[in-house]
Amino acid sequence: MSAVDKSPVSTEVGPAPRRQTRGVVCRWKDVSVQIGGGAPVVVQSMTNTDTADAIATAIQVKELAMAGSEIVRITVNTPEAAQEVPAIREQLDRMGVHVPLCGDFHFNGHKLLTQFPECAQALSKYRINPGNMGGGKRRDDNFAQMIEVACRWQKPVRIGVNWGSLDQNLLAKMMDENSQLPNPLEAQAVMREALVTSAIDNARRAEELGLPGDAIVLSCKVSHVQDLISVYRVLSSRCDYALHLGLTEAGMGSKGIVASTAALGVLLQEGIGDTIRISLTPEPGGDRTKEVVVAQEILQTMGLRAFTPMVIACPGCGRTSSTVFQELADQIQTFLRDQMPVWRTQYPGVENMNVAVMGCVVNGPGESKHADIGISLPGTGEIPSAPVYVDGVRTVTLKGDAIAQEFQAIVLEYIDRRFGQTQKA
Ligand code: SF4
Repeated sequence: MSAVDKSPVSTEVGPAPRRQTRGVVCRWKDVSVQIGGGAPVVVQSMTNTDTADAIATAIQVKELAMAGSEIVRITVNTPEAAQEVPAIREQLDRMGVHVPLCGDFHFNGHKLLTQFPECAQALSKYRINPGNMGGGKRRDDNFAQMIEVACRWQKPVRIGVNWGSLDQNLLAKMMDENSQLPNPLEAQAVMREALVTSAIDNARRAEELGLPGDAIVLSCKVSHVQDLISVYRVLSSRCDYALHLGLTEAGMGSKGIVASTAALGVLLQEGIGDTIRISLTPEPGGDRTKEVVVAQEILQTMGLRAFTPMVIACPGCGRTSSTVFQELADQIQTFLRDQMPVWRTQYPGVENMNVAVMGCVVNGPGESKHADIGISLPGTGEIPSAPVYVDGVRTVTLKGDAIAQEFQAIVLEYIDRRFGQTQKA
């Protein structure tokens, strides 16, 4: 018989300490969002409206902000778009939405930022892609022009290097140098090195041009999970700039969610990353705010931040053939999330609450007792009653057709009693 390993269960739970980075502040009016420097990991998102359509863009920015996006990026790709940025900002301010806006610039950012100073002023941050700024001296001049604008308006900049638009001159030079080595690296490894080199070199150049290091965020986005993990491990070991994480072109539906979660989960666990964006491709006509929900859920399920009460639900199995518990879990989750824009101020701390909705007696009572509030619905063949547990104690048993409504009322009463106290005091 083989020996049994008696080593104790690890007492160390949780992510590694966050890597120390320089804090970058992104602000608009009374809203100030810090990226890095020990601040909680920031959730970002990006619109997919035509920025030249100011109303549609302002509406989507508001939706993303209400869902919890702390910075919203909008593309600024044409003079028409640049011209509308101040109108978008005004419209948002009129609606009381002061979420900082980040302008996404490619190819012509140097022109747009200088020709439309009100656009430069209305944005709270600029995203620059050094791979899309031309070549040689022209590239250097365009980059310098954008950094000068950032310095003039005191705006932070994300230098966002991307696999799909990597500086081709730099890559060619590094490929050449690699080929001269006695043991050349694989092309993919040279690509990863080129991404990191490009990001850091451009950040250093921005500093030489006068942009403070605590106004620089770096990103190196790629579309494969293992490449992303490898690139960011190296990037974070070589610099202390704040880092923006994201898997570019993550894809649609579950594939995009799983790939982003796999990549970001590993990095966040290692303490790498100061802000995240989940680049999901929405279904046609789909809800853009899903990328915010996914970003929040990654951070919350990892225990890094709390945004909305969590619903713990069992997957269901042959012991519960009815859909009652699935519907209830979905209803409660949607209800809790929909209330959060108001509850954030009305019930501070409610985002840390756990609600369990379970399908039968096997794990139902146990899981419900561990949650702040839980319900164990009857499985097939069980007595049609649903015990409710509040703070681990069975308080009431619900029966009949109105279980969902009654449980929701109990949840609301609990939230008001537990988290409304500071308001009533
Ligand atoms: S709690 Fe009951 S219904 Fe839910 S998965 Fe477990 S055994 Fe199945």
